[in-house]
Amino acid sequence: MAICDDVTAAIGNTPLIRLRRASEQTGCTILGKAEFLNPGQSVKDRAALSILRDALDRKAIEPGGTVVEGTAGNTGIGIATVANAMGIRSIIVIPETQSREKKEMLRLLGAELVEVPAVPYANPNNYIKVSERIAARLAVSDPHGAVWANQFDNVANREAHVRTTGPEIWTQTDGKVDGFICAVGTGGTLAGVAAALRQRNADVQIGIADPPGAALYSYYTSGILESSGTSITEGIGQGRITRNLEGLATDAAFRISDEEAVRTAFDLLEHEGLCVGLSSGVNVAGAVRLARQLGPGHVIVTILADYGTRYASRLFNPEFLRSKDLPVPAWLERPDRIDP
Ligand code: PMP
Repeated sequence: MAICDDVTAAIGNTPLIRLRRASEQTGCTILGKAEFLNPGQSVKDRAALSILRDALDRKAIEPGGTVVEGTAGNTGIGIATVANAMGIRSIIVIPETQSREKKEMLRLLGAELVEVPAVPYANPNNYIKVSERIAARLAVSDPHGAVWANQFDNVANREAHVRTTGPEIWTQTDGKVDGFICAVGTGGTLAGVAAALRQRNADVQIGIADPPGAALYSYYTSGILESSGTSITEGIGQGRITRNLEGLATDAAFRISDEEAVRTAFDLLEHEGLCVGLSSGVNVAGAVRLARQLGPGHVIVTILADYGTRYASRLFNPEFLRSKDLPVPAWLERPDRIDP
């Protein structure tokens, strides 16, 4: 029967969409995996499901227990969605700087939110470390168990993509995929898809698209973790080699500026009807760069990571864009002109 038993069965199996402009510009076939079509509207539903299933399988929690996570938002939305379907309570620790829309979404899903100042990972009050402490505290008192999802270093995250995203891409392209590229938050998507595709064809070219302020472009080109600049992207931009990234080798690395990412995201919306967040702009801009490096005729896949409404007050807000010296698309400022 074509019926999902519950919402978790509706996660994954997302379509691959041909990105016409990017393909025309490069003579390649550039395809975007429409992860915004997951129930929580982002790629992170896959990791959330895999992490919670693993915790249940290990008997670290049972229904009625609690999951705690530090997240820029999308993982929290995925966790709250999956946890609700599994009868698990969710507590989400989020840096204050994340978009209002993501916080509202988490609250309306019933997650308990803990907002903390955005401080570096080395600081004990960093959101990730706060979430670990809360989970440890609750693990002692919650009779049904409490787990720290730990998306950065819990390889159940990467496994989700080894088991699902990568094989889906392989099947959807009939194995005719020459390259895969995306940006990194935890690295689960990039490392997981890379492993799955390389198992099937060792020659698949793997690229990383890195925003300013992240250290991975430098790491994968020179071996040194070094960063400069800042970015308005959310959910990506890593400064260390997470456990999910361990063992990953890349064939290409590109630094994508906010301006390039914003222009790409607005192009996707205006010309292809794809309303996506800025990490998808980074990903598609990266796919264009990889296509140029490989030359015409190749098939390159990337990730359309989440839905754009999540960023209405930022990426789609002319005042915000101007304050960051970023381009404002004409339609965002056009007054309503048509009489009723
Ligand atoms: N894009 C967005 C919008 C995200 O929220 C995330 C995850 N934080 C990513 C990309 C990166 O995915 P991953 O954690 O698998 O590297």
